[in-house]
Amino acid sequence: MFELDKLVRDNIRKLKPYSSARDEYSGEAAVFLDANENPFNAPYNRYPDPRQSALKDQISTIKKVPAENIFLGNGSDEPIDLVYRAFCEPGRDRALAIAPTYGMYRVAADINNIGYDEVALNEDFTFSADKLLAAVSPETKLIFLCSPNNPSANCLDRQEMLKVLRSFNGIVIVDEAYIDFCPQQSLLPLLSEYPNLVIFQTFSKAWGMAGIRLGMAFASPEIIGILSKIKYPYNINVLTLEEAAKQLTREKEKNHWVETLLYERTMLAAKLESLEIVSNIFPSDANFLLVKVDNPRSVYEYLVEEKIIVRDRSNILLCQNCLRITVGTDEENRTLIHALENYLKGKKA
Ligand SMILES: *Cc1c(COP(=O)(O)O)cnc(C)c1O
Repeated sequence: MFELDKLVRDNIRKLKPYSSARDEYSGEAAVFLDANENPFNAPYNRYPDPRQSALKDQISTIKKVPAENIFLGNGSDEPIDLVYRAFCEPGRDRALAIAPTYGMYRVAADINNIGYDEVALNEDFTFSADKLLAAVSPETKLIFLCSPNNPSANCLDRQEMLKVLRSFNGIVIVDEAYIDFCPQQSLLPLLSEYPNLVIFQTFSKAWGMAGIRLGMAFASPEIIGILSKIKYPYNINVLTLEEAAKQLTREKEKNHWVETLLYERTMLAAKLESLEIVSNIFPSDANFLLVKVDNPRSVYEYLVEEKIIVRDRSNILLCQNCLRITVGTDEENRTLIHALENYLKGKKA
């Protein structure tokens, strides 16, 4: 049985959150003399809406999820940190994740003094629920899944993820940062079926807005209530709210970017495949490729000299000799391929 009340840390359950002036009154007034703001320099003189109601309504329409199921944070970084602070007692509780996966889950665990356990994916990066569930301990409060997964680039099997959701009585986080690039359906429509499900999405990838720092968490209204209670009151600033609202009216453009990047991904993979130094390109459901090369460090350093930066993942579990390469524009990808061809020529000379 999933019992949210027992899962939440005592101090958080008892917490009476800070009540801001704008919490107490959020309507349209003619004169605001409640928050010690400067009356000049509109619109940035005003504190932002602590509940982000307007933006949540917009996201609600696009994602087909009620606004009460939405939490907005300063990037995905914020909800990653908040789930630890809400559900894990420092020095006692633990989180469990697949490996390899996104590095922030462990960093946030370390910052909060929470134990972090990991279970390797299979050699081909496929995921088996039973293997993961076998590593659950009585202290395990959170499970992190990431689909499509970073850095392996593949979607996790949906049935296996649902098995974890059904079998584990703690919180299961499914990070869907790359879901727009993936043929598999989001788990969003299943929110009401699984009270322990938390889904992360972000404006940083498909929406092209990594610079404004806006992440989304989707979960039951009860879980959203807990995260909202412990966040900084004004965690999303006015500039970010404005830019996100603008971009959300351009969903077609976002979809066009995704299509373009999927096409470029195919082209880039084909060109990489033809290079002698490339021994494997893992199947990708994301906007990056995990590529196995000879001498990854030497390739990486050569590219840096050419002012091209990729991610060296060769020291990560199951990623021996791998570089992670983000799909760029046609021109950027050509520049990369050209540099790799020159690297090869230099080797032979
Ligand atoms: C890029 C990425 C994010 C995005 O993080 P933000 O803080 O929202 O920019 C989240 N999860 C994964 C797995 C990522 O690779």
